[in-house]
Amino acid sequence: MKFYANLKCNHTRASFGDYAEILGGGLGGDDVCVFSPASAFINGLNFKLGAQNFYPCESGAFTGEIGRVHLDEFGIKNVLIGHSERREILGESEAFLRAKFDFAVKNGWEITYCIGENLGVFESKKTKEFLQNQLKNIDLGYENLVIAYEPIWAIGTGKSANTDEIAEILGFLATFTHAPLLYGGSVNAKNIAEICKISSCGGVLVGTASWDAHNFLNLISTAKS
Ligand code: PEP
Repeated sequence: MKFYANLKCNHTRASFGDYAEILGGGLGGDDVCVFSPASAFINGLNFKLGAQNFYPCESGAFTGEIGRVHLDEFGIKNVLIGHSERREILGESEAFLRAKFDFAVKNGWEITYCIGENLGVFESKKTKEFLQNQLKNIDLGYENLVIAYEPIWAIGTGKSANTDEIAEILGFLATFTHAPLLYGGSVNAKNIAEICKISSCGGVLVGTASWDAHNFLNLISTAKS
């Protein structure tokens, strides 16, 4: 079971140091990856450190971006691509996501590729079609691929999809990919155990409830109880 955390635009290097000490001290061989802000990257962790973003380059004239050399400095081999906040707020297009995907593949990084529908698509019952279309952009056969299904209407809203809805979508995705499938969207201590019991569920991608290390540890132990 994968327990992946998206810290988003939270934590400084100092506060992430404390976070890592608490989290690292409480883990027992779990598959944990924390996508921290780039400015908080640190070395020497006993869990996987991931990048929320990168520009598909080694280094170069790309103001404000981070390239491969910046990830290499911290041994980072896990990247998040396609998060809805980067698609919607930062305007990342399918073509750009593909360029990031191809660059990550070239480097052999583990890619957690996020997909998910908005409320309009969900309410018009077009979710499966929509997700299948999003996945046409990438190589589903890539061996280090993880797919995170994150309905946009469930992200940061406190309103998770219910277990039947999650089971239906993950089951559908499992018919055309062998990649581990995560669910993300308002995962919390009340719903994590049920979500992790879904047969096609390979783990969770947690935002808000992962920002406090004690909370995240509690989620992980609750999921296994
Ligand atoms: C996310 O943004 O990836 C996420 C899952 O957020 P939250 O858990 O806060 O809904």
